[in-house]
Amino acid sequence: MTEWYTEALHESVGQILRIDRILHQERTQHQDLIIFENKTLGRVMGLDGIVQTTTFDEHIYHEMMAHVPILAHGAARRVLIIGGGDGGMLRRCLCHPLDQVTMVEIDRSVIDLALEFLPMISAGAFEDPRANLLIADGARFVAETEDRFDVIIVDSSDPTGPNQVLFTEEFYGHCKRALTPGGILVTQNGVPYLDHGEQKRTYGRMRQHFGDVTAYVAAVPTYQGGMMTFAWASDNPAHRQWDAETIAGRAAKSGFESDYYTPSLHVASFALPRMVERHVAA
Ligand code: SAM
Repeated sequence: MTEWYTEALHESVGQILRIDRILHQERTQHQDLIIFENKTLGRVMGLDGIVQTTTFDEHIYHEMMAHVPILAHGAARRVLIIGGGDGGMLRRCLCHPLDQVTMVEIDRSVIDLALEFLPMISAGAFEDPRANLLIADGARFVAETEDRFDVIIVDSSDPTGPNQVLFTEEFYGHCKRALTPGGILVTQNGVPYLDHGEQKRTYGRMRQHFGDVTAYVAAVPTYQGGMMTFAWASDNPAHRQWDAETIAGRAAKSGFESDYYTPSLHVASFALPRMVERHVAA
């Protein structure tokens, strides 16, 4: 009998993925976790009923959330990742000549099980001497840390369970405090055509603490609902106004391979549909 993984993230629209083989399933200290195989998407990780990452298209999301802010900043040395348990974001950040990438993940089991069943996503990133892994609540970390970061990447799931604290104005204020002057905050901010309310409120909350708040977009097939948005917050609008030639020069210095990201796409990703512009301006 065929088994299906049902994602009912949105009120009246969902998606189902055929489970061809369950590799692991458990209730961790923080969330329900499953890793299974699907003929189209490869290996899939789900947390609390929401698809987190797949070997089919994780590169799109991780390349866009890591390379865009780091290359836009142009002089980043220290990066903070909140969440990111599968290690894909850590791997893409470490493509750049950074001094250190600190990753604060609340659930050790996600890391351990991703290393066991999805090692191709992190591809050894956790072994990099520049990786500084902490198992903690990211909201508490940014509230208390005395460290400062040039880029903060919030690689969370949607605002459910332990992720909820990562969508509050207080959290964004603590992120601002933890950034160096002119630093950049980017956050996973859902699919605007289906995620009403919560994601729209993100921008207003960020605007309490940052002078330049907007979004950039990418289409990730696994995240149902068309394009997804990444919220962008900084005090320096110039960061998101570089031309493709400047970005290409910086990317060449980092010398990384990508399967989705290009300097032209970097620049184009800030061109928003009118509806998303309205969300950002709300
Ligand atoms: N790449 C996925 C996506 O596109 O939505 C999400 C990445 S990852 C699987 C989300 C991670 O955030 C999980 O590993 C989860 O344990 C972690 N997380 C959730 N709440 C957290 C918190 N308050 N502090 C730190 N990590 C948290």
